[in-house]
Amino acid sequence: MSVRTGQEYIEGLRRQQRDVWIEGQKVDDVTGHPAFKRGIESIAELYDLQHRSETREPLTYPSPTTGEPVSVSFLQCRSVDDLRRRHEATTIYASTSGGMLGRMPDFLNAVLTGFAEAYDFFAQGGKHYADNVVRYYEYVREHDLCLTHALVEPQINRAQSPADWDDPYLALRKIRETEDGIVVRGAKMLATLAPFSDEVIVYPLHRLSEKEKDYALSFAIPLSTPGITIICREGYDTGRRHFDRPLTSRFDEVDAIVVFDDVLVPWERVFINANVELCNNIRSRAGLLDYAAFQAETRTVSKFEFVLGVACLIAEAIGADGFLHVQEKLGELVGYTEMLRGLVKAAYLDPVESPYGYVHPNMKPLRAATLLVPKAYPRMVEVLELIGASGLVMTPTEADLESEQIGPLVRRYFQGRAASAEERTALFKLAWDIVGEAFGSRQRLYERFYVGDPVRLSAIAYLTYDKEPIKERVRRFLNVHRVAGSSEIGR
Ligand SMILES: Cc1cc2nc3c(=O)[nH]c(=O)nc-3n(C[C@H](O)[C@H](O)[C@H](O)COP(=O)(O)OP(=O)(O)OC[C@H]3O[C@@H](n4cnc5c(N)ncnc54)[C@H](O)[C@@H]3O)c2cc1C
Repeated sequence: MSVRTGQEYIEGLRRQQRDVWIEGQKVDDVTGHPAFKRGIESIAELYDLQHRSETREPLTYPSPTTGEPVSVSFLQCRSVDDLRRRHEATTIYASTSGGMLGRMPDFLNAVLTGFAEAYDFFAQGGKHYADNVVRYYEYVREHDLCLTHALVEPQINRAQSPADWDDPYLALRKIRETEDGIVVRGAKMLATLAPFSDEVIVYPLHRLSEKEKDYALSFAIPLSTPGITIICREGYDTGRRHFDRPLTSRFDEVDAIVVFDDVLVPWERVFINANVELCNNIRSRAGLLDYAAFQAETRTVSKFEFVLGVACLIAEAIGADGFLHVQEKLGELVGYTEMLRGLVKAAYLDPVESPYGYVHPNMKPLRAATLLVPKAYPRMVEVLELIGASGLVMTPTEADLESEQIGPLVRRYFQGRAASAEERTALFKLAWDIVGEAFGSRQRLYERFYVGDPVRLSAIAYLTYDKEPIKERVRRFLNVHRVAGSSEIGR
């Protein structure tokens, strides 16, 4: 097999019998359902890019097993140039949506590539598990599948371990082993893109304790496997015209909870089997998720640029760009965008050798990026709101503009200093999708949480930071200036 076209991706989804639910309705064919159809078409567009003459080369490389073109998102990097290829590919994909598609298929391809490189890591649980990971990576690469991932327990009681909940089978866990595999029960969330995906990959996000051994699992499985139910959140795409909801109508990637009702996971799809230590080390030690973090922050650069662009155009369209405080706010957005771009660049221009001998992006700047984005993105949206003001709600629809009766009045009174009524309205509709719609609110939530709880991430950044050299500098300074007892401070 080789890279798929958008049509092949859509047909793949159509062929699968899956138990997908939205707003109380079972969906027989996601590709035709109004809540999913246009989002799926946007994902299909990403697959098509792999075949276009202008993007085929940067998005593909020859498969190490067949020589056929496969997605660059599976590239195991040996050089800065390889990292640059990954960066360029994600940038091309992200530019189609202004970075608004958070879980483009290349994200989980990046996760899987990191997993496959870390053979020795998975082999600690048994060589056959490591073989499973590598085989699965090759299978997804060669079939160009679309994956979702589900890492978090249902939000039932965060004060207790799921093992101590009244029903300890609510969060996904192993209930038994058979000759054919492990049988799992319970739910995992929050699987963005689940109704658009072929398979789900599972591993835990939070640290587990020994009593959570049966929850310490990693595996991948087709979403059409009997016993799996996908319960989607409500759809945000309600069928409005592209002009009126330019983002919602294209890029609602739909989140879901995945319920496993005594599902058999075949042995060849099990990567970690009831191993707390391995699960806990996925994030902290092994460099498994470096490519994924690189993809995520590269994608976010596109989003920052996009929001900055919208803010600049709005300020110009209504003649607000000359005001000092508007310039100051736009400058703030420039600052966030360039900080993020710089962090991502530093990650691949100053790479590290992974524990498994590959060339990886440097996680120090990428971790800093994960601290920046949850604070900067909501502020960028706030600035858009402060500059757009009433124009964000006071926009006509495309139907108003087209109307023979009201159209001339609408065109007269909705023009901007530097834009026709059509241009100004299109711009403000775009901004409204970012600022005001359910789509935009979810985007804000996404940037705060998609990589984990920002509070705990920030605390982890402090706790794991190598503080000794900087503390020592301060101690030396105090010693030079002869502050009594200063050499003992912080020891
Ligand atoms: C739009 C969106 C898309 C997402 N997509 C995906 C996806 O594709 N796949 C996936 O697996 N996940 C996804 N996530 C889930 C994401 O990983 C979680 O939102 C994130 O890890 C936080 O977990 P939570 O939402 O369950 O919050 P909770 O853990 O329930 O936190 C709720 C509040 O309680 C506090 N809190 C909870 N526990 C503790 C604790 N032990 N110590 C201190 N404070 C605590 C938190 O700080 C927070 O304020 C997505 C999330 C969003 C919002």
